[in-house]
Amino acid sequence: MANKKIVIVGGSDAGISAAFAARRTDRHADITVITKENGISRCAIPFVLGGQITGKTWMLENIPSLYKQSDIKLIMDEAISIDPNERLVRTNDSSFPYDSLIIATGAYPFVPPIPGRDLKGAFTVRTVEDTLQIKERLKTSKSVIIVGAGAIGIEIASALRARGGLEIKIVEMCDRILPTTFDSDLSRIIEDKLKDAGIEIITGVGVSELLGDEEVMAVRVGDREIPGDMVIFSIGVRPNTELAKNAGIEVGRLGIKTDDHMMTSIKDIYAIGDCAESVSLINGEPAASQLATAAVLQGKIAGKNVAGDDATFDGVLCSAIMKLEFFDIEIGRTGFTKEYAKTREMNVMARKTNSLTRSDDYPGAKRLDVELIFDIDSERLIGAQMIGEEGVAGRIDLVSLAIKLGAKISDLTRIKNCFNPPITPFPSDDALLVGIDYADRMIKRIKNRKRSTGSSGTPSK
Ligand SMILES: Cc1cc2nc3c(=O)[nH]c(=O)nc-3n(C[C@H](O)[C@H](O)[C@H](O)COP(=O)(O)OP(=O)(O)OC[C@H]3O[C@@H](n4cnc5c(N)ncnc54)[C@H](O)[C@@H]3O)c2cc1C
Repeated sequence: MANKKIVIVGGSDAGISAAFAARRTDRHADITVITKENGISRCAIPFVLGGQITGKTWMLENIPSLYKQSDIKLIMDEAISIDPNERLVRTNDSSFPYDSLIIATGAYPFVPPIPGRDLKGAFTVRTVEDTLQIKERLKTSKSVIIVGAGAIGIEIASALRARGGLEIKIVEMCDRILPTTFDSDLSRIIEDKLKDAGIEIITGVGVSELLGDEEVMAVRVGDREIPGDMVIFSIGVRPNTELAKNAGIEVGRLGIKTDDHMMTSIKDIYAIGDCAESVSLINGEPAASQLATAAVLQGKIAGKNVAGDDATFDGVLCSAIMKLEFFDIEIGRTGFTKEYAKTREMNVMARKTNSLTRSDDYPGAKRLDVELIFDIDSERLIGAQMIGEEGVAGRIDLVSLAIKLGAKISDLTRIKNCFNPPITPFPSDDALLVGIDYADRMIKRIKNRKRSTGSSGTPSK
């Protein structure tokens, strides 16, 4: 039997993960990656700009030789069309037959159609080129305006603050920073830290124009003109779906539609990463995470499937962690915020707790703030947000796993936390477990109330 022909379009986080997963699953498949850009670690970009990462490993220059070692063909070209009937991908220079195809074309940064957006000194942050150009501009800039206070905008602001020597302003159209990923109370804690560090934050109004002749000199925000030597747009991304759309593949509001095997509406064509729409793991609604976390996992799943395995993706949780360099704090989140859950008409309760990160008699213990969000009807944990000087990543991963496994609150009360004074607080003091115990008590109270009065009951504090 002839070797299976697997073609992957796009060679960044998702595409790379798919290629190696396919190779691990089928040692004989004929695997080709077509990409117009060498893969890069975009997650490293804020720290390259901030000067914390100085080497070149983030440019993933070793990937071509790793492909070679694994007998994966790399074609540096742009795929311009897919013909599902002929099972063919056409590039500018050639065409490639496939038995299975994976689309991993990623996303591009969104810039609003405002006057002045093409002025010199205005940047988006996505590619090696963007990064090197911003780095160059930083050498002569005294002030930077970051447009958009989502995770990437905040991460860049913090990394640049740690670098020093710059006046930093953030403009955010919503009334607070991190408006979609954190609940108001926690995002205000982070906002206060940024302000205390001298970063000006302008919320509730968008940038309507970039001002300057050839070079950007200021932005218009409401009736204010805010001077700045450079502008960095970080207001979200849009999925690259044209290739799929033109091939007749179904595209949803958030990206290329996929099923639980990451297969698109056309058999044997898969889509993964930032270009793909999946479903929310919590309520099954269309969702896209646009994070490397999901891109790499979806790549692994699609890579296995095209090579003959039967792997499934349960859905997106949007689990993310961030280290805000200047403040030495970690922030993390997973699942739904309570504000978002309410827009989905879920009956939720939230509990904010805090604890130390080590035993209280051990030197150097840090504060950890945790907010847990529970769905009262299903008695399940559906989200968490955390801010702390250490210990966030492991707890966010634990909560993500608990949500993924559909753990009930009563199950979570039986988590057996390891204890060692220099690394953890005493188990009964850990903010995560204190929040879970609270939810357990509340759920029992609500259930008892329902039993005795027949009412639905809302939690009391
Ligand atoms: C500044 C920044 C910081 C980030 N930090 C984090 C973080 O800390 N944690 C995290 O989880 N996520 C982070 N992300 C998000 C993460 O980088 C993305 O989710 C991830 O890169 C998505 O990978 P992807 O392979 O799906 O798409 P992409 O990385 O966009 O790659 C798609 C590739 O396909 C190529 N391509 C597109 N069309 C074609 C075509 N027609 N033919 C050939 N090639 C094509 C593109 O050139 C590109 O190389 C960050 C993103 C940015 C921009």
